[in-house]
Amino acid sequence: MERKRPLEPIKPEGMEIILYYPCPFCSRKVPVVAPLEPTVIRCDACNKQFPIVPSDDKTIKFLKTILDNGRAAIAPDFL
Ligand SMILES: [Zn+2]
Repeated sequence: MERKRPLEPIKPEGMEIILYYPCPFCSRKVPVVAPLEPTVIRCDACNKQFPIVPSDDKTIKFLKTILDNGRAAIAPDFL
């Protein structure tokens, strides 16, 4: 069966908070999905590794809750 009409735009059902950590070697801001534990990341520009400070689980959960996991963040024209 061939679909005749285009798909309706899909709404988000989840979200992540991306934090940017400045690489101490080349200054690139490396995007990381909010880490909950101290960890070591690799810069995707210079390939060197460095440790990063974790995010606060409660803060991240709060942000996801007030935005209803992304559903409350869509453009008003699409509500
Ligand atoms: Zn770097």
